This record gives sequence, structure tokens and C-alpha cells, in this order.
Amino acid sequence: MALIVHKYGGTSMGSTDRIKNVARRVAKWHDAGHRIVVVPSAMSGETNRLIGLAKEIQAQPDPRELDMIASTGEQVSVGLLSMALQAIGKKAVAYAGWQVAIKTDSAYTKARIQSIDNDKVNRDLDDGKIVIITGFQGVDDEDNITTLGRGGSDTSAVAIAAAMKADECLIFTDVDGVYTTDPRVVSEARRLKAITFEEMLELASLGSKVLQTRSVEFAGNYRVPTRVLSSLTDPMLDIEEEANSGTLISFEEDTHMEQAVISGIAFNRDEAKITVLGVPDRPGVAYHILGPVADANIEVDMIIQNQSVDGKTDFTFTVPRNDFQPALDVLNGTKDQLGAASITGDAKVSKISVVGVGMRSHVGVASKMFRTLSEEGINIMMISTSEIKISVLIDEKYMELAVRALHKAFELEKA
Ligand code: ADP
Ligand code: ASP
Ligand code: MG
Repeated sequence: MALIVHKYGGTSMGSTDRIKNVARRVAKWHDAGHRIVVVPSAMSGETNRLIGLAKEIQAQPDPRELDMIASTGEQVSVGLLSMALQAIGKKAVAYAGWQVAIKTDSAYTKARIQSIDNDKVNRDLDDGKIVIITGFQGVDDEDNITTLGRGGSDTSAVAIAAAMKADECLIFTDVDGVYTTDPRVVSEARRLKAITFEEMLELASLGSKVLQTRSVEFAGNYRVPTRVLSSLTDPMLDIEEEANSGTLISFEEDTHMEQAVISGIAFNRDEAKITVLGVPDRPGVAYHILGPVADANIEVDMIIQNQSVDGKTDFTFTVPRNDFQPALDVLNGTKDQLGAASITGDAKVSKISVVGVGMRSHVGVASKMFRTLSEEGINIMMISTSEIKISVLIDEKYMELAVRALHKAFELEKA
């Protein structure tokens, strides 16, 4: 008998029929003798709908009240799933995050989980119940409801699995695993049987939304065996077959099944670029430009400072597209103090990254990437590298073309 956490995403919970299928799949695992905790997302489209309602009232919604609204989609899901399980003769109980409690900090809309009390859940499991807990939400020390950022149910599930020392966390979603790139963009993308934790962390943080980045961090920090698999197969699929399907996040590099140099390509449309032109090149220039941006809670990603000419330099960096205007506003406020000639920006840029632990022992990955883009006539605006990834910033209109060309150049379709 094992303790297993199942997570079901929005598409998987998308209709009452799909919820009935989730219930059948969960019941199958429970019937096999396992203790099961289920973490569902809101029904597909529901979180967007709720945020849309809030924005009809306040263009920039108050974050605390927004979390009050956005968290409700998951509460509907847990209730419906619990009922669907009861309807097929299972004992089940649904909890909101605060009832467990899943404690977070107070950073509304992007809260971080701090602790999870598993007493109540364990009592219910001892009692033979299937426990269903809302994804995406928690509660802070002042009893305010918080949410964990978009895609946060992945993090709820892995964090619960970590807190309960579960044997496995199964992330059921609308694709049958982690692919070499988003299979909706490249039809030749290939499913990976296993991916190292480090590579998954890079792919997620560089834009692959199949797992929320923080869920991968939890999996790594607490060594939670985590698998991504399909919720759209027959719910009565043989349990052994299901248990070995999808993609396993592995912690051992030598169990990494595919020895490719590159494991995958991630992309992020959600980027914007800002350039501060003609600033006096003296100590503190980066601090004086980026300090106020950081104070406004805006995360900066790629950064380039040009060689100075006549004591003046240009400074370029990227921010999430949502923060483009706020970042420009901050800089326009400090422009005179900086002595900058002008500030320009471009919100139609995308970042593409190739990721792979094999890069450590192979040279030539960067040049192959740059050659491929040049052959497609795609201009690179910025480059950044780390030990296991190379990222480039390009015009967003070439993003899909670039991903396809790189996928082909690195022969990712081949095992
Ligand atoms: P859920 O609602 O189950 O959380 P998401 O939409 O958040 O599902 O994540 C699954 C989606 O992630 C897939 O439908 C796919 O389009 C996208 N995706 C992006 N990159 C990848 C990848 N490398 N492998 C698989 N899916 C990916
Ligand atoms: N419902 C939330 C969202 O749409 C959380 C999740 O689906 O993981 O972002
Ligand atoms: Mg998701």
C-alpha cells in the first residue's frame, strides 16, 4: 500500500463527465489498496473567467480581493469531485486550502507555501476516505486566502506530496507526458520517458507550462518522485501500465534514459525588452537603473550593457510583458536623474531556450543554435547562457518558426 497524490488539471476537470472519469480513475487506484489524496484545478477556463470578472470592476484588481475571487474555481472542483466519488460508492471528503491548513506567505497572487498540516488528512485516510484538496490556494497567518500564481495547482500537489512523504505524485494532464517541446507547436515533438530534475526545472522556468516552476523546486528539494501523465486515457486503463506511463522526473543523471545533448526547447512569449540609451558609464549605473525597477517588484531577466563610447553606454534588459508599462513608468520617473538620453522598448519579443545536461560535455551547441537561426534569417537580440541552457531573445513573430527549426536541427524528434 502506498500513499499517492494525484493532480488533475483544468482540462481534465473540464466538464462533469470528465470529473466522473477522474472519479473512476481515482477509485481504481484506491481499490488497488492505496491511500489517495487528490488535488484538482479549477474547471478549464474558470480561473480566466473569474479574473475577467474582477477586471470588469477594477482594471488593476486589488490583489487580496482578486485572490478571494480567483481561488473559488478550485473550491467548486473539489466539491464536485468528492460528490462524483461518493456517487460511485467511495468515501470522500473535500477541503479548501485553509481547512487543511496550507499556510503561505501574504504575497497575494504569487504566494509561497510555508507549511502544510497533514493531521486531518491522515485521519481521513486512516478512515478509508479519499481526500480532495483544492489546488492553487492557501491561507496566510492573518487568515487571508492567497493563491500561488497561474498553474499553481501543480505546486499544491507536489508540496502536499512532500509534506505527507507520499510515495509518488502523479500529475495528470491533457498531454501524455513531457515532450521535447510543446507538442501543440511542433507536431514532431517526442515524449521523454524520463527527464532530469535539473532539466525540468530549466524548461519550466524558461516557459514550458506543463509544470509550474515551483512544483519542480518542491520535487527537487524534497525528492518527491513525480510523474507527468495523461488524464485523457480510458480511466480503467490497467493500473500497472498507467503507473509506468508518461514522463518521470528523475534525480539521477545516469538514469537519464535519453543521452541527447539537448533534451528540450522551451519558449516564452511573455517577454518585453527595455533599452536605456546614452547613460553616463560610471560605477553604479546598473544599480541606478535596475534598483528602482526591483523596488517596484518587477523581475528582470536578461541584461546587456554595451561597450561605452565617449563615456556613454546603452543598457538593455527584459521584463515580463505584463510589467512592461510599469517598468517604463519607473524609468521615465528616474530618467533625468540617470542622465539618460532616451528610453525605448519593445513588447513584441519572445525568448527561446535550448536545455540539456549534455551541454556540459559538448561544445558547439551555441554555434549550432545561432547558425540555425541565421539560416532562417532570424535576428538575435539578446543571448544568455548557463551550464545547461542557451536562451535567445527574438522578434515574437518568428518564435514558432525558430522553435521548429531548432527542433529539427538538434534532431529532437529522434530517440
Ligand atoms: P493542466 O491544466 O493540466 O495544468 P497545462 O495547460 O497547465 O495543463 O499544461 C499542459 C500543457 O503544457 C500542454 O497541453 C502543452 O500544450 C503545454 N506544454 C508546453 N511545453 C510542453 C512540453 N515540453 N511537454 C508537454 N507539454 C508542454
Ligand atoms: N486554476 C489555476 C490556473 O488556472 C491553477 C491551475 O490550474 O494550476 O492558473
Ligand atoms: Mg497547469
